[in-house]
Amino acid sequence: MVNKMKQITKENHVEEAEATIACHECDLLISLPELEFGQTASCPRCNHLLTRRFLGAHNRILALSISAFIFLLFALPFPFISFTSQGKEFVISFADSIVNMALMDFFSIAILILFTTLLIPGACLLALIYVLISLQRKRLMPYTHQLLQIVFILVDWNMAEIFLVAILVSFIKVSSLASVFLGLSFWSYVFFIICLIASLSLLDRYQIWQKVKQHD
Ligand SMILES: [Zn+2]
Repeated sequence: MVNKMKQITKENHVEEAEATIACHECDLLISLPELEFGQTASCPRCNHLLTRRFLGAHNRILALSISAFIFLLFALPFPFISFTSQGKEFVISFADSIVNMALMDFFSIAILILFTTLLIPGACLLALIYVLISLQRKRLMPYTHQLLQIVFILVDWNMAEIFLVAILVSFIKVSSLASVFLGLSFWSYVFFIICLIASLSLLDRYQIWQKVKQHD
């Protein structure tokens, strides 16, 4: 469907069933009709994007989230990065990078990396998958509301892509000193981030909460 832009204004929101939404930028309360697929709604005062509705968004988010979680699991057991220097080969797994950080007395940073690059995105994906499977059923499964709230809290703490950028910077630095090879886990982690970003870019807070309310 063509991505038709629609600015929701105070004049055109009276015909259909409406819901009230507060603008995150200026706190303006806006009555919003149900959008058609491909439409977006912006705040009439500050033009902040309020919500957008894509055709089949929740099915696509579910597929991408499951893929992202599988790629995240594959990023754990295999070599993440390996390099040879002076005839010796060093192989580092994802877990090694965190454990080595802790062994070098950067314990708090190791914990931060563990949570923001592995546990938080993993928990966020599992919660999102649960919510979306729940929405596909006729009745919501238990704790759907709570898990959706947790998803939106955890999303802000995900820093997986920042971790990857840091790895790439290190890769460039080390590659001038040694022969560096990117392992299967590294590529799994790259695909995990691609799927995660694609999934979260389709996730619309207002639309998914509306869907949850429909199933209540
Ligand atoms: Zn606004």
